[in-house]
Amino acid sequence: MSRSVLVTGGNRGIGLAIARAFADAGDKVAITYRSGEPPAELAELGVLAVRCDITDAEQVEQAYKEVEEKHGNVEVLVANAGITRDQLLMRMSEEDFTAVLETNLVGTFRVVKRANRGMLRAKKGRVVLISSVVGLLGSAGQANYAASKAGLVGFARSLARELGSRNLTFNVVAPGFVDTDMTRALTDEQRAGIVAQVPLGRYARAEEVAATVRFLASDDASYITGAVIPVDGGLGMGH
Ligand code: NDP
Repeated sequence: MSRSVLVTGGNRGIGLAIARAFADAGDKVAITYRSGEPPAELAELGVLAVRCDITDAEQVEQAYKEVEEKHGNVEVLVANAGITRDQLLMRMSEEDFTAVLETNLVGTFRVVKRANRGMLRAKKGRVVLISSVVGLLGSAGQANYAASKAGLVGFARSLARELGSRNLTFNVVAPGFVDTDMTRALTDEQRAGIVAQVPLGRYARAEEVAATVRFLASDDASYITGAVIPVDGGLGMGH
C-alpha cells in the first residue's frame, strides 16, 4: 500500500537514501530541503521536494500544507535534518550550542508536532527520528550535538508513552559514522581513528541506515515503539 512519507533533509546524505528507499518501495514520498536545488533524480523518482527550514515554524506549516495537498496526511515521518557545530566546550559559543539544539531538537519537535495532527486523526502513524551513536556515548568536541541527539531519545520515548494508545509509534535510529558530507568534513586522521574503533571496521553506507528506517515504518515493526536501534557497526555496543 502506498503511504504518504515525509523525510526532512532529504536532498542529500542519509535523508536522500531514505527517500530513495521509500520511493523504490512504491510510497508517495516528499522531502524537505533547506538550500540549493534538490537533485534531479528526486523528480525522476516522483519525489515531491518542498523547501523548508525546520528552524522556522511558518515554513514548517507551509511545507506540511503543500505535502498534504499533494500526498494527503503524512503517515510516516522521518525527522532526519540535522547539523553539527563541533567545538571544545571552552571555545563553544552559546550560539554554537543553541543553533545545534534549535535545528536538531527543537526543529524535530516542530515537524513531529505538526505531523501528529494528521496521524491522530487517522489513528495511525510512524515517526522515526535520526539520532546518533554520539548521543548515547558522548563525543569530545560535540557537547552540543550529543546533547541534541540524546534529547531525541527522551523525546521519542515520551511520545511513545503519550500516544501509543492512538496507534502511533516513535522510534529512534542511532547511526554510527556514515559516509556523507557531514563526515567528509573530518580529517583523514580523524576518520582513521573512528574506523579503528568500529568492530565492522568501516563507515556505514547511507543505504544501510535507510533500510532500518524503512523496517521501523513497515508492518513488520508494528509492535516496536520507544526503541533506539543502532546502525553503527558495533561502535556503541549495547548503548
Ligand atoms: P548532511 O550534512 O549530509 O545533510 C544534512 C541534511 O539536513 C541536509 O539535507 C540539510 O539541508 C538538512 N538540514 C540541516 N539544517 C536544516 C534546517 N535548519 N532545516 C531543514 N533542513 C536542514 O548530513 P547526513 O546525511 O550525514 O545526516 C543526516 C542526519 O543523520 C543528521 O541528523 C545527522 O545528525 C545524522 N547522523 C549522521 C551521521 C553521519 O555519520 N553522517 C551519524 C549519525 C547521525 P541543506 O542541504 O540545505 O544543508
